[in-house]
Amino acid sequence: MQKIAMKTPLVEMDGDEMTRVLWKWIKEMLLEPYIDLKTEYYDLGLPHRDETSDQVTLDAAAATEKYGVAVKCATITPNPQRVEEYHLKQMWKSPNATIRAILDGTVFRAPILVRGVSPTVRTWQAPITIARHAYGDVYKNTEMKIPGPGKVELVYTAEDGSETRALVHEFKGPGIAQGLHNLDGSISSFARACFAYALDTKQDLWFSTKDTISKVYDHNFKDIFAEIYENEYKAKFEEAGITYFYTLIDDAVARVIRSKGGFIWACKNYDGDVMSDMIATAFGSLSMMTSVLVSPKGYYEYEAAHGTVTRHYYRYLKGEETGTNPVATIYAWTGALRKRGQLDDIPELCAFADKLEKAVIDTIESGVMTGDLAAMYEGEAHSVPSRAFLQAIADRL
Ligand code: NAP
Ligand code: MG
Repeated sequence: MQKIAMKTPLVEMDGDEMTRVLWKWIKEMLLEPYIDLKTEYYDLGLPHRDETSDQVTLDAAAATEKYGVAVKCATITPNPQRVEEYHLKQMWKSPNATIRAILDGTVFRAPILVRGVSPTVRTWQAPITIARHAYGDVYKNTEMKIPGPGKVELVYTAEDGSETRALVHEFKGPGIAQGLHNLDGSISSFARACFAYALDTKQDLWFSTKDTISKVYDHNFKDIFAEIYENEYKAKFEEAGITYFYTLIDDAVARVIRSKGGFIWACKNYDGDVMSDMIATAFGSLSMMTSVLVSPKGYYEYEAAHGTVTRHYYRYLKGEETGTNPVATIYAWTGALRKRGQLDDIPELCAFADKLEKAVIDTIESGVMTGDLAAMYEGEAHSVPSRAFLQAIADRL
């Protein structure tokens, strides 16, 4: 059989722990036998990030800007415990946060639905896609422990030296304070990415914040969305037969639960982080959630929404077989290959991505799956370890 040829390399970002193990198996068992895989490889595994003082993450982001499409394995975000475990030079930032900040993108997360695993919410019939703003707020905060009585203020010093002040709090005793920011440019990019993705996928777009309480900060998000919608997208939405609406986040939560699904829910950074985990879990499992970072300049980075599955990795290191679910990581590859195929006009590559996804779904619907899914499966499930599951998919493919 002739392998499918690629024109432009994919930016391949390898990662850590159990997902790094799955990454290698997915390439060996499902991709390399069929595709003359062309990638530019960046090792974002924690040891190599440390060796390069995180330069490799910056290089991988730059390569994404050069080639347009990346696929990323889950990576460890160092915390004090990881600094010790890996003897790190310093507590490197989250690679995802670094890449998001450089690409200024929006993250779209959608669950993968299979027959036999019903959503916890009975009314949901179609995936709900969460669009998470990927810049600022609490992820770029400045925080302070307030040791005792005193005044905390926000001070804006303009370029001409003039100051504007706002009192945060008159402390009578110890406490805490936090400064957050966002940028009109980033919020506009977020809005445009959401409107464009809604048109691209022909789904309604919802947007929610807490503007009744945050009358300046959150209200600014609402206003920017409204203005861009009116001026740039309203006519296109009407033509496509889709709608945009804004509502308070409390109202959105209630409506989401009552909905049938099949729309995009745009959220601020923190809301999107939390709500995507809730949506994923209610649809089945975090291991069945896909994620793509779309930059306003048209760059795409595909990944799984879950982490490196540390607990399974320690069992794997002891020689045990684990039932770590590879589906979201496979979909990261199929998403990236399909996008590459579309951009480079390689229909066989797009068709391969479709076939691989179908092989995954058909394998699960035939009753063969990893333990996380088997626990929720409504039919008779045959729970297998990761490698046997990948082999079953390969056989079907
Ligand atoms: P996690 O890796 O997502 O795993 C949490 C738990 O969820 C697992 O222990 C497992 O539960 C279950 N799970 C997640 N993915 C699964 C899969 N594919 N198959 C089967 N079960 C799955 O989250 P974490 O333990 O909080 O984080 C581990 C590391 O990942 C951390 O170092 C964190 O920094 C990193 N992380 C990276 C990303 C990213 O790169 N995008 C995202 C999140 C976290 P059971 O153990 O009960 O089976
Ligand atoms: Mg999260």
